[in-house]
Amino acid sequence: MKRYATVCKLDECSKKLEQKIKKELDTFMTYDEDNPELVISVGGDGTVLYSVHKYIHQLDQVSFIGIHSGTLGFLTDYQKDEYMDLVHDIRLDEFKTYNRCLLEVKTHDETYMALNEVRLENNRRSQVLGVYINGDFFETFRGNGLCVSTASGSTAYNKSLGGAVINSGAGLMQLSEIAGIHHNAYRSLGSPLILDWTHIIHLESENFDGSILGIDTLVVDLKGAGSVDISLAKQRARFVQYKRVPYIERLKRAYLSE
Ligand code: NAD
Repeated sequence: MKRYATVCKLDECSKKLEQKIKKELDTFMTYDEDNPELVISVGGDGTVLYSVHKYIHQLDQVSFIGIHSGTLGFLTDYQKDEYMDLVHDIRLDEFKTYNRCLLEVKTHDETYMALNEVRLENNRRSQVLGVYINGDFFETFRGNGLCVSTASGSTAYNKSLGGAVINSGAGLMQLSEIAGIHHNAYRSLGSPLILDWTHIIHLESENFDGSILGIDTLVVDLKGAGSVDISLAKQRARFVQYKRVPYIERLKRAYLSE
């Protein structure tokens, strides 16, 4: 790969790290912010999410890799003290690629993509949602909201909701409740529901006042919308892998090691 761009978190540590990486890469690559082949995220998992959204219309041409400027990341393969390894690996140009599934989220007037998850949330009052799957009525949900995550996002917000962790390569999406209300009058499934690319989740409500749609790091006011449709997108985000970090190792490193 010849052309690269960086997307950097706005703190001093990340900016310094970005400058060091650029200084090295500029000796054998060209910086091209508009038309890069490789996008290097410098920061945290949120920076990787931001990078994918920044280049969401160029997913066919762009590959992503992340370096963490803080402690530990789930979407990043390198730590800050490994930046010369990253430069060395990029120079060697021997890599595998893997695709991360995205969600396609359609409101009445917009279409968004999500790498981690989409959350329909209301913290002001209990949100009533009609949940339809492939056009068939499934349940009426009442509570703070619903989260639909990808396999990549299953270790993020979804995990805090008690959702299952799903191997990041799987083409699956998971519907989880955010503080659902369950008693004799109000009943919804309660447990996370895992679906695949054949499913479309349709969420509708007569009243979206105070509701927001959280799409990874982006927040959209839902007022005015009557429904939201969520499915696995045809397009995927391509990540390069210079070194092998087995998924189970990544899980252990992030959640189980002291
Ligand atoms: P942030 O700075 O609040 O980060 C939240 C944490 O989520 C960070 O520790 C980050 O490393 C981690 N994270 C993000 N994506 C991850 C993934 N795929 N697997 C494992 N951990 C992941 O917010 P941010 O950095 O802007 O990232 C936005 C993401 O944060 C959202 O997509 C959401 O999944 C997550 N988040 C989680 C909670 C929660 O667990 N209660 C709350 C808010 C946001």
